[in-house]
Amino acid sequence: MRRSKAFIPTTKEVPNDAVLASHIFLSRAGFIAQVSSGLYNFLPLGKRVLKKIETIVNEEMQSIGAQEVELSLVTPVELWQESGRIEKFGKELLRFKDRKENRFVLGPTHEEMMVSLVRNRVSSYKQLPMHLYQIKTKFRDEARPRFGLMRGREFLMKDGYSFHSSEDDLNREFTAVEAAYKQILTRLGLDFRVVEADSGAIGGSGSKELMVIADSGEDTIAICDHCHYAANIEAAVRGKREDVPEAPEATFNRFMTPDVTTIEALASFFKVDPYYLVKTVVKRAVYDDHSDIVLFCLRGSDTLQEVKACHAVHAQELVDVSEEELNEVGLTVGFMGPLNLNTCTIVMDVELEHADAMICGANEKDYHYVGVNFAALKNIPCVDIAEVKEGDRCPHCSGVLALTKGIEVGHIFKLGTTYSSALKAEFLNDKGQREPFIMGTYGMGISRLVAAVIEQHHDDNGCIWTASTAPYLVNVMISNIKDEQQMTFAQTLYEQLRQSGVEVMLDDRKERFGFKMKDAELIGFPYTVIVGKELVNGNIQLMNRATLQKETLAADRALEAIIERVMT
Ligand code: ATP
Ligand code: MG
Repeated sequence: MRRSKAFIPTTKEVPNDAVLASHIFLSRAGFIAQVSSGLYNFLPLGKRVLKKIETIVNEEMQSIGAQEVELSLVTPVELWQESGRIEKFGKELLRFKDRKENRFVLGPTHEEMMVSLVRNRVSSYKQLPMHLYQIKTKFRDEARPRFGLMRGREFLMKDGYSFHSSEDDLNREFTAVEAAYKQILTRLGLDFRVVEADSGAIGGSGSKELMVIADSGEDTIAICDHCHYAANIEAAVRGKREDVPEAPEATFNRFMTPDVTTIEALASFFKVDPYYLVKTVVKRAVYDDHSDIVLFCLRGSDTLQEVKACHAVHAQELVDVSEEELNEVGLTVGFMGPLNLNTCTIVMDVELEHADAMICGANEKDYHYVGVNFAALKNIPCVDIAEVKEGDRCPHCSGVLALTKGIEVGHIFKLGTTYSSALKAEFLNDKGQREPFIMGTYGMGISRLVAAVIEQHHDDNGCIWTASTAPYLVNVMISNIKDEQQMTFAQTLYEQLRQSGVEVMLDDRKERFGFKMKDAELIGFPYTVIVGKELVNGNIQLMNRATLQKETLAADRALEAIIERVMT
């Protein structure tokens, strides 16, 4: 491609709301252009990157026997009613009517559509397993579209769905997809981790996320420094703490603690480690048809993990409560505790199950109990609701957990029969009986990956594409297009590189050298060949974008040398 003819509107302007490097550089370098909140146009460079990622994804999915399909983006509302997800998705679903008053939804994901495609068409266990996938636009009316391609409303997703006649076969496929996803991210040149994810009501290891490691990631993940354990903070668990602080000595007693209401204040008042204090967090648990005030109790040295807490009470969501609501159930801010309280639900963290020598609120203004032994407490559920912290023990080995940030680029999930049962999608097993399909679902954010590559690979000057994601691998830059020798040499080299199968751009614009260099750095071609003044002495230069180092090459040996550098 000749740059003089290419549609690459680079600019110095930073989009108004942009905070992430990927959002800034992809916009400034002319890969994408915003249309409206969460909506983006892909320009030629952006489209090339998308296609590269798609090609790798297609190759790896087909290598595990998945078949590509393409489902309608517009999905009938009835399917969403059948599965019961119309409420769950809520306002994220964009709904509309056609001219005949039929109601539709723009597909945010395609479980329902895929199940309805397969039901009545696949009817025997002999046709299983079957794995169908697509790479297709999705629409979610996200509450807060932000960070450019990272959280769009319209975005490109690869979504796959597998159908099985047994759990074992689903497990086999799940492992195969995990391996294929790892292969995809490795080929894209990304540093990533596969982490255990929140699997909601299903639990177990049925849900994993693929996280690209980046400080700007929205997710927090816990990683063991010793073994392979890694988990999303929403699902992370920890091993038993060994360096337990010394316990305070006290017999059970009600103690006056005037105005001592916070964990810090209590710790210094009693001169005890927060490990021996009970922290309380009150939330309203929201269900289908009612809601319930819940008092969550945990050690003062821990914090509540809301996703775990939400699952502990099987609620749809947890919302904050006002002081009046607290008072209504007899709770006094600053002095709340699990003893002598029967006006609301109590859930304790598993660490409190047999805890002794504890200090907790007495549910009375200005009083705490000391010397509390929870072993005696009956009928209060004790569940893991604490958030894993930096330095906690790994649950699997003697290692230590560290927290880091990640971008969720993929999610694989063992669905079981949730959707096939709801949508009555059944097959005949080897005994001739009807059974719902056992399913897996596998998503990967293709457009989010474009942003993730840049989050992990950029510097102050712009993008640094990895070899497999670069829109063009080489940029041949003519320093002065009025110099005939430079022009002829560069054009010949450009043609030769093209014929050798190298994706190459020829920067033949009538612009200053410095301007063109800045532009090349902003776009992030992995290599830029500089055909400049040194050509009269038989030399050109090759700049490596990642290191910004320039290497001098003999002009008459340039083609071979460049091919050797860029193709390895
Ligand atoms: P998130 O927690 O980031 O909202 P999700 O759990 O809603 O993600 P899934 O429903 O599992 O995501 O979708 C599969 C993949 O699609 C995600 O792993 C992510 O890479 C991508 N994805 C999801 N929502 C968006 C979005 N709004 N913009 C871009 N990509 C997205
Ligand atoms: Mg989401």
